[in-house]
Amino acid sequence: MISTQRYYCKKAILITLILLSAINVFTKTNYAANTDMMKIFCIIPIGHIDDKTLQHTQKELEKRFNVIVECGRQLEEPTYAYHKHKKQYNSTTILKKIYKLKLTGYDRILGIVDVDLYVPERTFVFGGADVKKKVSVISLTRLKQKFYNLSDDSALFNYRTIIEAVHELGHTYGLYHCKNNKCVMFLSNTINDTDHKGADLCSKCKEIMEKKKDTLKPE
Ligand SMILES: [Zn+2]
Ligand SMILES: [Zn+2]
Repeated sequence: MISTQRYYCKKAILITLILLSAINVFTKTNYAANTDMMKIFCIIPIGHIDDKTLQHTQKELEKRFNVIVECGRQLEEPTYAYHKHKKQYNSTTILKKIYKLKLTGYDRILGIVDVDLYVPERTFVFGGADVKKKVSVISLTRLKQKFYNLSDDSALFNYRTIIEAVHELGHTYGLYHCKNNKCVMFLSNTINDTDHKGADLCSKCKEIMEKKKDTLKPE
């Protein structure tokens, strides 16, 4: 009799263990399903952009914004935005082109281009953003040491790319330029400004960003 009870007891423990592992699998499946609810950013290469740069940007943005970042189809070189006399490309025209793609399912879009950008009010820009449309663009041209006749530094280039990407995406969250020159939202007038400010938000901007995230409505 005792041995039968023990048998049932062992059987009960076994069933419990099976049930617990089933619950565990279910929870994990549920967790995976939850990632569907995470915000998704899309990176759009405009013209040829090195795969390493795209992958590095993708990984870093996923980490920094806690989102999923996907890489979209490469777009043609932005000849439509070229200014003959300036020999530069209008960043606002490129932003409009990206927006016209009407990519759905993405919370924010970041175009990456390797041409020198300008806006009519400034001689050049490292990037641009449309706050309402949540579309942004960065240029890699002035992030390369060779632009300044210096020898290549891939680590520095990668870091500058992240700084500019975070800055422009920060604008799409409604963040303005920050007076703190160690904050990523500080306006870079030179590459030295970019190197000096780094890729992190100051505590004030971080606070604003968190509030904006909370009030973001699903699109
Ligand atoms: Zn800015
Ligand atoms: Zn700031």
